[in-house]
Amino acid sequence: MEDLTSRALALGQAMGFDRVGVAPALPTPQTEFLRQWVARGFAGEMQYLVRRLEERVDPRRVLEGARSIIAVSLALGPEAEETPPGRAVGSVARYARGDDYHRVLGERLRAYENELVTLAGQPIRTKSYVDTGPVQERAYSAQAGIGWIGKNTCLIDPELGSHLFLGVVLTDLPLRANAPMADHCGTCRACLDACPTRAFDAPYVLDATRCLSYATIEQRGAIPDSMREALGDRAFGCDLCQEVCPWNSRSGRRPPPDPLGLRARLAPRSEWGAPGLEWLLGLDEKNWRTATRRMALRRSGHRGLLRNALIAAGNSGDSALIPAVQRHAASEDPLLVDHAVWALARLRATSRARAAGRGSGVTTS
Ligand code: SF4
Repeated sequence: MEDLTSRALALGQAMGFDRVGVAPALPTPQTEFLRQWVARGFAGEMQYLVRRLEERVDPRRVLEGARSIIAVSLALGPEAEETPPGRAVGSVARYARGDDYHRVLGERLRAYENELVTLAGQPIRTKSYVDTGPVQERAYSAQAGIGWIGKNTCLIDPELGSHLFLGVVLTDLPLRANAPMADHCGTCRACLDACPTRAFDAPYVLDATRCLSYATIEQRGAIPDSMREALGDRAFGCDLCQEVCPWNSRSGRRPPPDPLGLRARLAPRSEWGAPGLEWLLGLDEKNWRTATRRMALRRSGHRGLLRNALIAAGNSGDSALIPAVQRHAASEDPLLVDHAVWALARLRATSRARAAGRGSGVTTS
């Protein structure tokens, strides 16, 4: 007869997760490193990481009597369709283009917790998180053998790549732990070299304050001038260190079947695959609320998304966006005025350079 651990793992897969593994509910070198990482100022404005630091280091502080952590992963579905030509668009990190994964995976994990109680046949304690509590999902996913943490600090599954949603269930059940997976980055450093803001202080160490994903989502104030050009077309998040990773770029990679439709529930929404910058810049708060309903993309806030879209517009070289940008230059919000003025200057400079290039027969793009 199968033991409880095997049945718990099989149950997780039967409930739609691609990978399920078990780690001991103990601090790991990775979770301990958080103290040093925070002390070096790499967390930036993410004070929530600092507030519950000791819980993030030791999961037994999160659930009293915790013995095991069940880690689950779900690969993202296929990428959105190609960008329609002829309009300037912004880019959105792949994980944020559909329904909010916190909610979708969170619901499924709570159902899994209930089934676990039945499986255990006795009262047990459980607590689940999907990026929603003081538990380092990536660290325990690696410890549970469902991937390794790459030099880009993402969890990498050798078959599914790193575009993954992760979740954990803490429990007082003494389950059998899996062996951690070996690191397969080898001598590769594509992610470190590709990052336009050199956000990796060292392999496996991200300085969030230099990361474009952090800047567009977590940072609340102005984006430093020195980062604006590097931001390119990013309206929310950045996937570059994953895009260049050979574990993601293997041709023909397809997510596993999705018989319960869990992945389908997180499918990208068509308007967020490659949102037009003009549309983004025209979103007032009410329309933004409607357009981002039940999406993790709300995290940047309406103001943050506009700020990002203004920079993307400035970088687009598309002078047709000037009127949309100009409206924000007249805003009452100094943050938006600052970014709009920057974008206008950049768009006009590009326009002038193009005109000069046409005049001299030299092309600039
Ligand atoms: Fe590791 Fe290379 Fe992928 Fe970076 S790009 S995470 S170094 S395999």
